[in-house]
Formats: sequence, C-alpha cells, structure tokens
Amino acid sequence: MIRGILLKNEPMYLHTSLKVGGPADLYAVPEDSADLQLLLRQFATENIPWLTIGQGYNLLVRDKGIRGAVISLERLSGITLADDTHIRAEAGAENLAVVRFAQELGLGGISYISGIPGTVGGAIRMNAGAYGEGILERTECLTLLREGKIRDFCMGELDYGYRQLHLQAGDIVLAALFRMEQREAQLTEEEVRKDLALRRSKHNVGFPSAGSFFKNPAGQAAWRLIDAAGMRGARVGGALVSEVHSNFLVNAGGATAKDFLELSAIIKNAVFSTSGVTLEEEVRIVGAN
Ligand SMILES: Cc1cc2nc3c(=O)[nH]c(=O)nc-3n(C[C@H](O)[C@H](O)[C@H](O)COP(=O)(O)OP(=O)(O)OC[C@H]3O[C@@H](n4cnc5c(N)ncnc54)[C@H](O)[C@@H]3O)c2cc1C
Repeated sequence: MIRGILLKNEPMYLHTSLKVGGPADLYAVPEDSADLQLLLRQFATENIPWLTIGQGYNLLVRDKGIRGAVISLERLSGITLADDTHIRAEAGAENLAVVRFAQELGLGGISYISGIPGTVGGAIRMNAGAYGEGILERTECLTLLREGKIRDFCMGELDYGYRQLHLQAGDIVLAALFRMEQREAQLTEEEVRKDLALRRSKHNVGFPSAGSFFKNPAGQAAWRLIDAAGMRGARVGGALVSEVHSNFLVNAGGATAKDFLELSAIIKNAVFSTSGVTLEEEVRIVGAN
C-alpha cells in the first residue's frame, strides 16, 4: 500500500487543460520516489500498465479513458540549489516556480519557461520551449527512473530535438539539473513580466486549450498553414479552431475527445491539400480507442 493517494475510476477531464477525457482505472499520487518505486513494483506484479503525467496541459485523453493507471508526480516538487550555478528541480515542480526560486538567488537565464503551463517533468518530456529555445538547452542532466533504478543521465547521453526527447518506454523523469547564470533579480523580473504579458495578449483564447495543437513544421508556422487552408474558426461539436490563434484548438463547451480528433483530422487533410505539408500533433493523444 502506498503512502500517497490511489483513486479508482478518476475522470481525466479533471486533469487535462482541454477538459476532455474518460476515466483512468487508477490514479496514483505517490508521496516520494520510494513510494513511486513501491507503486511500480505493485503494478508490475499485477500487470497493470501505467502512464506518468504532469498537469495535463499537453494531453488529449480519449473519451473511453485510460485502461491501467495514471501516475501524477505532483508531490515530488522540491527545488534546491545544487551548486553556485545549478538548480535541481523535481518533476512535479512548476516551471514558473523554478524561475522564481532562481531569481531569489540572483540566478537566471531560463525566464522563457515562465509562462509555459505545467511541470518540469512534462516540460522535459516535451522539450517545451518558447522564442526558439527549448528547456533541454538549459538542462545539464536528468534523473530518470529506468527499469526500477534511479540514475542520472547527462544531456550528451540523450537524444533530443524540437519538442522531443527520446527516452526508453517506461522511463520516468524524476528531476532535472538546470544550468543558470548570475542575473540580477530585477532583470529576471522584467523578462518574466514581458513573457507573461505577451502570452496574455497572444494566448488569450477565452476557452480551455492545450496551447499549440500541432508542431511547427521545419521553417514554417503551423498557424499560417492552418489559416491558408481556411481552417480558422472551423468546428466539430464543441471543438473549435480558435479565432484568436489558429494553432489553438479549444473546448468551446461540451467538447469530447472525439470532436478534437475529428477536427484535427480535418485540419491535417486541409493543410495537406493546400500546402502539401503533413502536420504532426504536438499534443500527446492517450487512452483507449
Ligand atoms: C495556454 C497554453 C500555452 C502553452 N504554451 C506553450 C509554449 O509556449 N511552449 C510549449 O512548449 N508548450 C506550451 N504549452 C503546452 C504545455 O504547457 C507544455 O507541453 C508543458 O510542458 C506540459 O506540461 P505538463 O506538466 O502539463 O505535462 P503533461 O501535459 O501532463 O504531459 C506531457 C507529456 O509528458 C509526459 N510526462 C509528464 N511528466 C512526466 C515525467 N515526470 N516523466 C515522464 N514523462 C512525463 C506525459 O506522459 C505526456 O506525454 C502550452 C499550453 C497551454 C494550455
């Protein structure tokens, strides 16, 4: 029995920013990494498949939900100073909390993650980024739970790129070590405010979303291709291509995962017909068909 929380039939729409998704058979929130290891041993014994999530800002969970377990690392959220210029953050820490922690110590250089909603674990897994910089460019090493063992991997040992990090199936990101620079707190404050203000003006879509739904194809902006295909404002059920930002698919009320999947397929066809480009989802699609 774990010390943390273990829920049955937990609706996933409660844990995703798109506010869609059927129930997960089990929803676990381990207390710490020892609790997580215990949980994984139990799942292995009982043959229960599992999936780790952050705060669900980049997740589309299908309507039939998730067979097996969802693991949230929200209680592994410590942030510490590792040495003069490195900060270690656990997977469940929020991105903005890392920036603020560093700022208090006169460290910075990572303000571009301030406004990316979600956790360090989710951001690392996605190589989330903004203004042309991904979080992994500032990451020195990762602590992974791989095949039941906790091990540090430095970035030179790992393969990553735009919005992707190649891990082995079943790897869990436990923590990341970030390389920081000396930076006056006031300068970081200005960077954070600028980022948050820009996001308020550009991303204020008025409905639940997962941010950009599609990755930007090399050298192109997905929103431009979607506009060129005449898809701004297209709708299936409650899923809508935002009028404000055409790479944001939003839940305009009562949407289902099926609505989003159908709308996504329509957009991909339309973009392929007009520009010959195959869009790829940035959003992770999970759950039972
Ligand atoms: C308004 C808005 C704006 C956004 N802006 C940006 C942006 O500017 N740039 C950007 O890159 N993204 C952006 N996003 C998307 C989203 O915020 C990022 O992808 C974010 O990193 C997701 O973090 P999360 O903790 O919610 O992860 P989740 O969505 O919960 O998970 C994402 C993926 O990571 C995996 N995962 C999560 N934690 C772990 C872990 N500990 N170990 C292994 N795998 C794990 C999950 O299984 C899933 O595959 C935006 C989203 C919204 C809603």
